[in-house]
Amino acid sequence: MPSQRAVRQPPCMGLAANGGAASLAIMDEHADTGGDADAEAHGLRKVIHIDMDAFFASVEQRDDPALRGLPVAVGGASARSVVAAASYEARKFGVRSAMPSTRAARLCPDLVFRMPRFDVYRAVSGQIRQIFLDYTPLVEPLSLDEAYLDVTADLRGIGSATRIAELIRQRIRDELQLTASAGVSYNKFLAKLASDQNKPDGLCVIRPGEGGAFVRDLPIRRFHGVGPRGAEKMASLGIETGGDLAAQPIELLRRHFGSQADYLYRAARGIDLRPVRPDRKRKSVGGERTFQHDISSGPALREVLDHIVEIVWARIERAQARGRTVTLKMRYADFSLVTRARSVPAAVTDKAQFSAIGHALLEDMLPLPQPIRLMGLTLGSLEGEGEEQPPPPASPQLALF
Ligand SMILES: [Mg+2]
Repeated sequence: MPSQRAVRQPPCMGLAANGGAASLAIMDEHADTGGDADAEAHGLRKVIHIDMDAFFASVEQRDDPALRGLPVAVGGASARSVVAAASYEARKFGVRSAMPSTRAARLCPDLVFRMPRFDVYRAVSGQIRQIFLDYTPLVEPLSLDEAYLDVTADLRGIGSATRIAELIRQRIRDELQLTASAGVSYNKFLAKLASDQNKPDGLCVIRPGEGGAFVRDLPIRRFHGVGPRGAEKMASLGIETGGDLAAQPIELLRRHFGSQADYLYRAARGIDLRPVRPDRKRKSVGGERTFQHDISSGPALREVLDHIVEIVWARIERAQARGRTVTLKMRYADFSLVTRARSVPAAVTDKAQFSAIGHALLEDMLPLPQPIRLMGLTLGSLEGEGEEQPPPPASPQLALF
């Protein structure tokens, strides 16, 4: 619930779509980086978060001019399908990714469905990555369409992180005919918030000294790493904004949020110590669903599992994840948790196989001793698990944002 708090303009040097490169060059030169204790205490880094705008849908519109200007959903149209991505025209109708396709079609009767072409998205993602690597080797992909870049070392002597972000956006536009939004700041947490600020085709800079203020009025659900259920839990504790979170003692956060507490405590102050880690591989990719009403019948359970498979497989594709272990998780009505896992010798490479393993795990557990309130499915043992990451780059020579 938005509270009665006054809404302030975030301290963001934002430029909306079509702001033009000419006006962008100006913002760096007079930035004041002096005197910010937080940023200096933690080593002033230059981090860019690049996020492609409606990536899958934009690639479809790029490759088929007939789709331009139309509301497009990438995903199947059938009853069991979900939307993997929606164009901005479709978003105006409330269509969102992970939404059942039937619901999307109800919201937007003229919605055009296109089947995803993940091999194309992967190829384009590779092209984008090559552009990033022209500016820094420290590129940490979050998915096919998002990455963090640490440009502290300014290898090409461009002089400012903001200018590097603009050059990258320009090249993506010129070379790939796609648009990206960029966030520029002194850590990952803020850079990711910033890239979301002026979407689509926008840029936002959060300078040293501005992070705390930016976070203060931010709704807690926009904190990276706080999911919908995390936000609910926060709300139950009276925490609705970054400011509310910053007011909590670390002990309380540890009690309620365990290992995430230190990250949250710092994030509420605009501080984030996580380095940009190139080629980070996730340990698992999964998803789960909590039901409005507990379920126990075989057909209902199978249907729910099919739906979860759709959502999780889209995430797996997007993260380019490969793993060998499928884990089915269920929480019973009495809140007890049960998990069953099965590993295969080689990485699971298609949705049918992923689905078949999930269903085999489910069938083994039927009939259930009591109804369940939650089901989740995860692909784990991903390639690259446990790899050590290089340390973050040494501190800053680049003077200005
Ligand atoms: Mg995106």
